[in-house]
Amino acid sequence: MSPLSCPRARLSVDLDALAHNYRTFATLADAARTGAAVKADCYGLGLDHTLDRLWREGCQDYFVATLAEAAAVRQRLPDATVHLLGGLLPGDVPALRGLGVQPVLNAPEQVAQWRHDAGAGAPCDLMLDTGMNRLGLRPDQLAGLDLDGLTLDLALSHLACADEPDNPMSEVQRDAFARLARDLPVARRSLANSAGIARGTGFAFDLVRPGIGLYGGVVHPALADRLRPVAHVEAQVLQLKTIGTGDTVGYGATWRATRPSRIATIAIGYADGYLRGFSNRGAMVVAGTRCPVVGRVSMDLVTLDVTDAPACATGDWVSVLGGGISLDEASQWSGLTHYELLTTLGHRYDRRYLGQQ
Ligand SMILES: *Cc1c(COP(=O)(O)O)cnc(C)c1O
Repeated sequence: MSPLSCPRARLSVDLDALAHNYRTFATLADAARTGAAVKADCYGLGLDHTLDRLWREGCQDYFVATLAEAAAVRQRLPDATVHLLGGLLPGDVPALRGLGVQPVLNAPEQVAQWRHDAGAGAPCDLMLDTGMNRLGLRPDQLAGLDLDGLTLDLALSHLACADEPDNPMSEVQRDAFARLARDLPVARRSLANSAGIARGTGFAFDLVRPGIGLYGGVVHPALADRLRPVAHVEAQVLQLKTIGTGDTVGYGATWRATRPSRIATIAIGYADGYLRGFSNRGAMVVAGTRCPVVGRVSMDLVTLDVTDAPACATGDWVSVLGGGISLDEASQWSGLTHYELLTTLGHRYDRRYLGQQ
């Protein structure tokens, strides 16, 4: 890499850990097949190598949110089944047909449009709304639906509260889904996201759709010991300085030293997804020692109190996420979910893909 393009923050993606997590879901799903939600660039971790590895692990079904994402998956995996979750907008049909991507039809007009424009044989999916009230066909809309001539692959629904182990809404949704999907002329049925899979095989149906858990996010206690971290974010120490008692650090002068302190300025900030919620709350691992974030996070920089890590030197790599900092801790400090912590990672990282490609 040329020195001009050499970033001072890097994101390492452990493909072996990704594969481990995929196999964990496949085991939990038992007889059901295991697909993958790869929207938002595989939740911020980058598409290409991640897709290659999922494909090698036997993943056949990929779920995306936009046409551009669908095109990117299709280009990388010519033989995969690609499902576009967002549904069909007027004008989408030629692009979807051209790419060989199947839309998840969310409304009666979308069903009618696909029937009219796509022709027989072009597979599609049906999203059933079992209580999320976001996308999907409501039960009363299913009754009068003309499905004649459609090649229906999946009936899907999405769980609203799967990450709350004691919330009975998941069972209510599962039963509604089983009842509604039973009479539909579909090839396969699919309900569970990562947290839904953790609830047991009663939620697996024919195909499960994990997302966050593949990338190391833990969204159900039953998954805590079974998933491995995938992302490791590191950034370099740009400068070290010693300040006196009473001196302040950063915008707003929100942190004041209560002892002579050694301050390290690190090359990561909110433009890299290290959002301002970490201000005066986060911590990073510096040469084996946890050091607190002091002062506000700024766009490209964050400051640490490294007084207790005397070995810290300019140019050192500091662990920001992974490498001793769990998503759970980062989530508690920042108020961000595991989903947000990963999907907001920016575009400036030197991205490395470790393990078998
Ligand atoms: C994002 C998404 C998933 C994956 O959910 P996770 O909670 O990340 O496992 C599954 N199904 C649908 C419809 C989704 O939008």
